[in-house]
Amino acid sequence: MAKRKAVFIYSPELEEYHYPPEHPFNTIRAKKVREIVNSMGLLSGPDRSEAAPVPAERVVLKKFHSARYLHALKEASEGKFNTEALSMGIGTLDCPVFKGLYDGAVLAAGGTLVGAKLILSGEADVTFNPSGGFHHAGPERASGFCYVNDVTLACMLLAEAGKRVLYLDVDVHHGDGVAYAFYDRADVMTISFHENPRMLFPGTGFEDEVGTGQGKGYCVNVPLPVGTYDEVYMKAFKTIALPLIGAYDPDLIVFELGADALVGDPLAHLHLTNNAYADIINHLLSFDKPILATGGGGYNIDNTVRAWALAWSVLCGGGSSRQGGLRDTELAVSSQQRDIVTSQIEATTNAVKVNVFSLHGL
Ligand SMILES: [Zn+2]
Repeated sequence: MAKRKAVFIYSPELEEYHYPPEHPFNTIRAKKVREIVNSMGLLSGPDRSEAAPVPAERVVLKKFHSARYLHALKEASEGKFNTEALSMGIGTLDCPVFKGLYDGAVLAAGGTLVGAKLILSGEADVTFNPSGGFHHAGPERASGFCYVNDVTLACMLLAEAGKRVLYLDVDVHHGDGVAYAFYDRADVMTISFHENPRMLFPGTGFEDEVGTGQGKGYCVNVPLPVGTYDEVYMKAFKTIALPLIGAYDPDLIVFELGADALVGDPLAHLHLTNNAYADIINHLLSFDKPILATGGGGYNIDNTVRAWALAWSVLCGGGSSRQGGLRDTELAVSSQQRDIVTSQIEATTNAVKVNVFSLHGL
């Protein structure tokens, strides 16, 4: 792609929907990201534009979510709450019911689907919906702050259009909803880098979860030890993700860019800086395939906003002096941390290679 057409997906309408104030998920992040990239002039020009999300259609939602679940979600957000909804995870501490919940979830998901359609029509080569990335939601389950699984729906839409889809998830939590949606399929490969599931929600995403049947080898999990820092993360990324993406040769990449792997996130224990995210994006761009990027987790709001603004500036080719202002300073790593983390990551990457590489001729 000589010149990439990049579309940023956002609308102030998204601001009408809020999790309760005590909840860690803060929807203000997308608004703040937009403010920064707009002030940098990164939303205009011949190859950059904005698009507003439109609510996902019910017929599309039903490709993944059950009618029973969608009904309960809608009823709950209208105040008609019942134990059946609770049995599907709606109304828990993690997934509380709040005003406009259904409309907000469906609008945010619709943003990711707008991105998918723009890529399918050739109107965009790169899209970013910072209000998307709800990778934990199941067909009939609200989970981990997620109600409508926009990334799964987007992968489904793209696969239905005959595309070979690579789903990459760098959120600190395992992208379980997406991984299991395509667990027996080879037309959507999922790769998730996340903190050791023994330490963190959702408790899945071990090296030996590799898919089944036709999908064997098309689900890849790279669990990372507490304290994982940029250099070793990138080494694992280059060792596992780059060869697999190359061998799989996707038509496009769906990229869940949760920023909760950054150091200082209150819910997790990795030590990344946003420079790792920028490096990953540069690697993805080098494949020269369309990229549908979404937000995700990220509970240190300032760090998350800066990481996503930096991500957009890299995605849309807006490298300028201001980008330097968005980059985190590099972190010092103690020799003890280095020793512990390095040996654990090497064991993990070796296990992943043994489990899946031969299935792809690697
Ligand atoms: Zn997360």
